[in-house]
Amino acid sequence: MTGSRGHDGVSSPREASSSRSCARPGCPHPVIRNPVGRPRLYCSPACRTETYRLAHPAAHEPLLVEVDHGSTSSRGRPTGHIWLVRLRRGQQQAVIAVGLGRPSADHLATQIRDVITPPPLATPAKIR
Ligand SMILES: [Zn+2]
Repeated sequence: MTGSRGHDGVSSPREASSSRSCARPGCPHPVIRNPVGRPRLYCSPACRTETYRLAHPAAHEPLLVEVDHGSTSSRGRPTGHIWLVRLRRGQQQAVIAVGLGRPSADHLATQIRDVITPPPLATPAKIR
């Protein structure tokens, strides 16, 4: 992707009654409408996959829980309470908590990992 693709007049939605353009942005191919079954949105499975990938760039990335320094202007604050817990997947991230001490941050991260990490399928569920 180099961004050289021009935006030349978005195609009108009603060009023909029996076909519509592919729902993937930039795809010029029409979707051949199947007389039976659900109407398709994309001209090909590849377009459907690509569109999903563009909308969810990090869907295949693992969900990570990170404990990190809050690198914001923390001068003058006690260095023991500038940790944050962050949830990350690819380029997307969400800060769960800031201003934690390291033990608290580690504890919270462990709890979150326990929640989001599915147990191994081969292992029988633990009874707590
Ligand atoms: Zn297409």
